[in-house]
Amino acid sequence: MANAKDPVCGMTVDTDTDLKTEHDGETYYFCGRGCKLDFEEDPDKYLDPAYEPHM
Ligand SMILES: [Zn+2]
Repeated sequence: MANAKDPVCGMTVDTDTDLKTEHDGETYYFCGRGCKLDFEEDPDKYLDPAYEPHM
């Protein structure tokens, strides 16, 4: 079991979840469907170092 950071809201999430997606060979994990959908819509927005995760 491991933890990952939800790139959309910044929450720590368990990697043992189906709420994940692959982008550029990396796997990203999410706290919920909303964050996953937001990320899939515009991954580059959330991976931009200038983006600040928030709920
Ligand atoms: Zn989230």
